[in-house]
Amino acid sequence: MGRVQGKVALVTGAARGQGRAEAVLLAEEGADVILCDVCDSPAELDYPAATSADLAETIRQVERRGRRAIAAEVDVRDPAALEELTRRGVAELSRLDIVVANAGIVSWGRFWEMSLERWRDMIDINLTGVFHTLRAAAPLMIEAGNGGSIICISSVAGLKSLPGQAHYSAAKHGVVGLAKSAAIELAPYRIRVNTVHPWAVDTAMGQMGPEAEKIFADNPSFSAAMGQYLFDPPISQPADIANAVLFLASEESRTVTGTQLTVDHGASKI
Ligand code: NAD
Repeated sequence: MGRVQGKVALVTGAARGQGRAEAVLLAEEGADVILCDVCDSPAELDYPAATSADLAETIRQVERRGRRAIAAEVDVRDPAALEELTRRGVAELSRLDIVVANAGIVSWGRFWEMSLERWRDMIDINLTGVFHTLRAAAPLMIEAGNGGSIICISSVAGLKSLPGQAHYSAAKHGVVGLAKSAAIELAPYRIRVNTVHPWAVDTAMGQMGPEAEKIFADNPSFSAAMGQYLFDPPISQPADIANAVLFLASEESRTVTGTQLTVDHGASKI
């Protein structure tokens, strides 16, 4: 018996990285999944975009574990497309119990030098995209009457602001506010809402790209403001975050809601 046996999970940003690890682990533990990813570069970024082949590989890994996947190339900035996919997934898989609002981007820059477009892309994807995801899922979960668990992937930058990342920090702090309100509003329906806060995960986004290198070279004081961590090396694997998501998705965490779960080598503590 899997830890989420017979449940159905919606995972955004599922083509690769943490989203793939979460989708595949939930499938391994008995859930069918509804998957989306933009499979394209959603903004000006200095790391490679996920592809259609990446999403197909996630689906293959889910199906290899004997579970079903309903998937579509959807941008979380498009609420109508997200709603359509979620409705179709629930119609085909019969229910919705778990939501992992994982899709996100990262970029760098001092706030007063950042283009308006860079600021807006970040807020639109990393904050409003999470709102769109919860908005698409909540009515269907309420209607099904099975309770459930919503997990929003924030960041250490959602607990302490990071230099060169005012837009990312604002979006990830915003996700915490959204999740805490949602936890109160959804409690009468036995739907829990929590955030997960990773630090430096070994994914395409987690690599130190040219933008980050430049900002730290140009601004020597920023490195100290990034803080420290308690374990060396400070890199998590996608599986480390997926394990935290699985705990929050399962009944093992049935009394946990409105919390911020750090998976960060202690980086948010010192
Ligand atoms: P990743 O780039 O490997 O994966 C992110 C996925 O989201 C990609 O497949 C991408 O195509 C998808 N995506 C991006 N914009 C989208 C959009 N508009 N619509 C739909 N899909 C979209 O990175 P990751 O490390 O797996 O990131 C997952 C989450 O973890 C993000 O929310 C990120 O902010 C957060 N996070 C990452 C780190 C890290 O170090 N990697 C640390 C803390 C938090």
